Amino acid sequence: MRIAFFDTKPYDRDFFDKYGEMNDISFKYYETKLNEDTVGLANGSDGVCVFVNDTVNATVIDKLTEMGIKIVALRCAGFNNVDMKHAYGKIHVFRVPAYSPYAVAEHAMALLLTSIRRIHKAYIRSRDFNFSLSGLTGFDLHGKTVGVIGTGKIGRVFVDICRGFGMKVLAYDIFPAKEFDNGDTVRYVNMDELLANSDIISLHCPLTEDTYHLIDKNAIDKCKKGVVIINTSRGALVDTDALLEGIKTRKIGAACLDVYEEESDLFFEDNSGHIMEDDTLARLISMPNVIVTSHQAFLTREALENIAQTTVNNIVEFTKNNQCPNELCYKSGEAVDCKDGKCFS
Ligand code: NAD
Repeated sequence: MRIAFFDTKPYDRDFFDKYGEMNDISFKYYETKLNEDTVGLANGSDGVCVFVNDTVNATVIDKLTEMGIKIVALRCAGFNNVDMKHAYGKIHVFRVPAYSPYAVAEHAMALLLTSIRRIHKAYIRSRDFNFSLSGLTGFDLHGKTVGVIGTGKIGRVFVDICRGFGMKVLAYDIFPAKEFDNGDTVRYVNMDELLANSDIISLHCPLTEDTYHLIDKNAIDKCKKGVVIINTSRGALVDTDALLEGIKTRKIGAACLDVYEEESDLFFEDNSGHIMEDDTLARLISMPNVIVTSHQAFLTREALENIAQTTVNNIVEFTKNNQCPNELCYKSGEAVDCKDGKCFS
């Protein structure tokens, strides 16, 4: 079986070669992303394997099906880059629903600690033998209130980490997990209450029509002065212009961003030799209280191993049984996990 693998990075290949060889799957690696211009590269393959910034829109789906391709294997959890409404009934889409919630949640905390303890500044200073502490004053996390939006796999690990620091947690989720609320240190509240009372807000919900620009000017206006915003989920959860304005007016104390709404042409690539065309990103990066990493939160050895293993298992399972529990469906107007694996055939 041959799978065209798009947006390949060196760290993908070791793990995919290992699990591919064990299962008679040959991956044809392409550095380019999948989109309308590159979809032809998949010709002759049985499926495509894609990541977060590949484009699987209606045109791409139609071209894949014209080529007789039946499988889109996402090697990620999020699927906002796939037009599931158009895909359903035409091509089978699988995802990796969980590979290491710890990787993402720990990165969120790493960003937060780096930001509030000014580690990014201290690191550069001490490399220059500048041992001055002026301007490096931080604040204790102990006793602070963190608002966690989305208490699924990653959100809950992040809550556990925060509780280890002695923080109070305000949680918001459209499907609250009641058993998670202890009425004291972890409480579900409505969105306005979370915004108004959190010293730190961390986003762990998916990007959907409902969550697009969840953190916009209106939401920022409701926040505490000096709030720290952490986004390790998807860039478009935050209206970047409103975020920038909030930082400029000192309403937002700091921003920790692993994702950015216009990241698809920039992140994962070395742009150090080019003029940065994106003025908004350049302005954000220039600010001392903003930390940007380039969609790196998932990048641990454990996560890469799990991603490769689950992606290959999805392909094998579907090929053998014509069904796969990690398949995505489109039902009642939204993309959902198929669960019983019995999608269209
Ligand atoms: P999950 O499905 O386990 O949890 C998502 C939670 O969000 C669920 O509890 C769901 O009910 C909730 N939710 C859905 N819509 C909501 C809304 N409108 N308001 C509030 N809550 C809502 O997913 P997860 O594995 O925890 O992943 C969360 C997100 O993290 C993914 O969707 C993905 O975008 C992102 N992610 C980022 C990286 C990275 O490297 N930066 C890696 C993996 C996942």
